[in-house]
Amino acid sequence: IEKWERAEHSAVTTCPFCGVGCQIEVGARNNHIVRVRGQRGPNEGQLCVKGRFGLEFAESTDRLKTPMIRRDGVLVSATWDEALDLIAERLSSYKGDEFGMVASAKCTNEEVYLAQKFARVVMGTNNIDNCARLCHASTISGLSIAIGSGAMTNSIDDLRNAGCILVIGSNTTEQHPVIGLRIKEAKRRGARIIVANPRRIELCGIADVWIRNRPGTDLPLILGMCKSIKDAGLADMGFIRDRTEGFEDFARSLDELQMDVICGLTGVDESLIKEAALLYANGNPSSIVYSMGITQHACGTDNVLALANLAMMTGNIGVPGGGINPLRGQNNVQGACDMGALPNMLPGYQNVLSAEARAMIEGIWGMRIPERPGLTLVEMFDAARSGRIRAMYIIGENPVLSEPDAGHVIEALGDLDFLVVQDIFLTETAQLADVVLPAACSLEKDGTFTSTERRVQMVRRILAPPGDARPDWWILQEIALRMGYRKGFSFSSTAEIMNEISRVARIYGGISHERLESGGIQWPCTDPEHPGTSYLHRDGFANGRGRFSVLRYRPPEELPDSEYPMVLLTGRILYHYHTGTMTRRVHDLEYLRGEEVVEINPEDGANLGLNEGDLVEVASRRGSVRARVRLTDRSPKGTVFMTFHFSETPTNVLTSRCLDPVAKIPELKFCAVRIRKIQGS
Ligand code: SF4
Repeated sequence: IEKWERAEHSAVTTCPFCGVGCQIEVGARNNHIVRVRGQRGPNEGQLCVKGRFGLEFAESTDRLKTPMIRRDGVLVSATWDEALDLIAERLSSYKGDEFGMVASAKCTNEEVYLAQKFARVVMGTNNIDNCARLCHASTISGLSIAIGSGAMTNSIDDLRNAGCILVIGSNTTEQHPVIGLRIKEAKRRGARIIVANPRRIELCGIADVWIRNRPGTDLPLILGMCKSIKDAGLADMGFIRDRTEGFEDFARSLDELQMDVICGLTGVDESLIKEAALLYANGNPSSIVYSMGITQHACGTDNVLALANLAMMTGNIGVPGGGINPLRGQNNVQGACDMGALPNMLPGYQNVLSAEARAMIEGIWGMRIPERPGLTLVEMFDAARSGRIRAMYIIGENPVLSEPDAGHVIEALGDLDFLVVQDIFLTETAQLADVVLPAACSLEKDGTFTSTERRVQMVRRILAPPGDARPDWWILQEIALRMGYRKGFSFSSTAEIMNEISRVARIYGGISHERLESGGIQWPCTDPEHPGTSYLHRDGFANGRGRFSVLRYRPPEELPDSEYPMVLLTGRILYHYHTGTMTRRVHDLEYLRGEEVVEINPEDGANLGLNEGDLVEVASRRGSVRARVRLTDRSPKGTVFMTFHFSETPTNVLTSRCLDPVAKIPELKFCAVRIRKIQGS
């Protein structure tokens, strides 16, 4: 309190870490943060350890303070004029599909909007993507097919109204901690909790049913639940008749399924699958909460479609307390997709292939949009490797640590003629760039983020950026201007950019900074009088009728064998965020967890002669890393769990580039590895 009183000024802003979108009040004095506390908003004053104690990264002495240009192989400081002129000159020679852009889910909506506009009209390509490709691309594709909108259908607060919550492929208390609190609150209010997860996560402790299915078997598990519901006569035939299509074919496919085959694939008893199915069907209403355990598979789109089938056949969509709720990872990954930082979607999820959508936006921009969809993130690195892409501009992402098969990414970046990286730190990716541009972080600029529940909220400037660092939107605009694009890149504030967004993307039609001053608004919000939408699909689906899909199980692409006998599952932990560029510069978080550990089951440890703390090498067909062992029954037998937070142990050297054929999301949740002891503890 004493410190708080010494703050010269304070502002309410949005947490820069996960997609929950917690509201925080930050007090500052002499350009230093002196206090952080939770505010009213979706978090109701609650914060996790990152939001409460993790903002120190902004004041790190490692912050980039000047532009840098590579001269004679070394990055050296340069002026803004030198760096921007060089970029404008070099990019002018790579217009069209020789160029690729990676926008950042850490940037504001206004900045991402400008980034995709830059790629499309200045560079003339739809080669623009963001990190959603690595986390929820299959959500967008699956839910768009099934119900016409690839976003969380309901609200965080609404979990309180659920009679049953199925948490599948989400370690909610670690990765979306404040939503984890809502699930615990729902349990206290009487909701039944089903957890489906191969790992023993914290929520297993409050679950009525914990299904520990084998990794990569979510699809047969969900189909088994659907079959049990149908066979028990619990399908909501009224909802199916009035709101959906394709149920007959789906029902026939369920009749052909054999429960003993499902149990064999999943490793789960039939009685447990039936118990979970009946709990879900009788939840009245039931909510599905899922995350990357569902999406990061080569069958990720099918997994999402299966969850949509489950929700539709029980009528649990379009009702308070129900729905399908994908939890988005990064602070603004929902917004990055909303803004059209996708190779096949324009702002507001308007298809690039739609001549009508292109014409509408071209009318506002006064410039042509390329017709052909661009390349996705993983495809862009493949194209760089083969010489089809020759220049890239990467904003606020660190693919050297976050992409699968990281060795391939490093080679691809090395093959480029020209690489620009814009970030707040000299990340592992920035170290490979030809030009590095110092960006302001979210505490140093104004704009908006959109949280996982589609809530658009203000981001407010509290600190001055260090040195010469500048907001990403200012940098993008300066380059566009130097490339001759005054029209369309002459905004004087992010509020002006939002005004253009509201004209281009109908779901943001009623959103303005002025309105957001009195609190966040959930899209769709189509006009200035529209109050926003707390839950979707109340009266109908965006695509007319909900579509059931007939689905068949496909095993993961790289199964264990005698050479690589274990399965690697990757994920995140409470104390760190993404590739650790921000949280690893926070003393308290680093104290809580400062290095990677390899979590394996004690039985596997005994078979491999391992003790707690031993140093091991984990190897896949693509590379190897070293870290110390933690023996824990959180990991099921035969699996290894690691994060991608620690640059000293670049876990994604191991992971596979196998892609979901629809969403092009890599199978980050499953690859074959072996373990070798290097040194005792
Ligand atoms: Fe920030 Fe997410 Fe933690 Fe909330 S739950 S404080 S948004 S990291």
